[in-house]
Amino acid sequence: MNISAKTKICMVIGDPIEHSLSPQMHNAGYQALGIDEKFVYVACEVRVNNLADFIKGVRAMGIRGISCTIPHKVEIIKFLDEIDETAQIIGAVNTVVNEEGRLKGYNTDWLGAVIPIEESISLKNKKVALIGAGGVARAIAYGVVKKNALLTIFNRSIKNAKTLAREFGGKAFTSNELGRIKDMDIIFNATPVGMHPDEDKSPIPKELITKRHIVFDVIYKPYETKLLREAKEQGAQVIHGVEMLFHQGIAQFKLYTGNEAPKEVMKSILLEHL
Ligand code: NAP
Repeated sequence: MNISAKTKICMVIGDPIEHSLSPQMHNAGYQALGIDEKFVYVACEVRVNNLADFIKGVRAMGIRGISCTIPHKVEIIKFLDEIDETAQIIGAVNTVVNEEGRLKGYNTDWLGAVIPIEESISLKNKKVALIGAGGVARAIAYGVVKKNALLTIFNRSIKNAKTLAREFGGKAFTSNELGRIKDMDIIFNATPVGMHPDEDKSPIPKELITKRHIVFDVIYKPYETKLLREAKEQGAQVIHGVEMLFHQGIAQFKLYTGNEAPKEVMKSILLEHL
């Protein structure tokens, strides 16, 4: 680390936040590019009822970039000067850039959903099953529809599935109708099912997964969920949640620093800490 009076601060905010791997990932990138005198990245636990004061602090101190995680992605919008069009459509901001006192909000989560898939196949005309209809599902729905895939949403609450389908285009079903995924190409899990403390659960019965599927679980802790383990056993291609975390962070790195991120260094730091 090479911190001086010229160093600009970037940070991730959330509540809780101490589990975040973003500081390790971004600082490793700054060091690899030799820009660690210009930028440093920290984490800050910010309670929802302190968000307004936090933003005043950002403006007063000239904080350069803010990555937002739960529970701030929607709430932060009302404090910003400008929201980019994609973040407006998704309805959530995970990235804020301070351009000489003007705070502009972006969403890079959708890139984290589409880039790992498009590294091996095009999403165009692919049938995508999206399980879940919460915050992460919104970014995934935006991304896959933008890439001209055909979206089907399955969710515990049909009301939330229908709302998402209406907004982004696609069909909506309850999770009881998961039998339909047999004919689909790509399956996203965007629910917390399989995450600590429910590591022994999977959102999809194993027998519904076949080798024609690409299965993308957004959960990154544990690194390999029960869903991904069973998908591999069924011969499916799997994509780990860390890929989403990585690619949304790579896009943030460019927005904060103006530099292309050193991907290999940042990926290996993430994997080392998982
Ligand atoms: P959210 O807004 O709370 O949405 C949760 C979704 O999961 C809802 O559709 C909810 O259904 C469903 N759900 C919750 N518990 C369920 C259960 N026991 N059985 C079936 N469905 C259930 O959460 P989120 O912010 O979208 O986060 C979802 C997951 O993404 C979390 O595991 C989080 O850790 C992960 N995540 C990953 C990344 C990454 O970079 N890889 C980034 C952010 C979040 P209802 O509509 O019926 O309530």
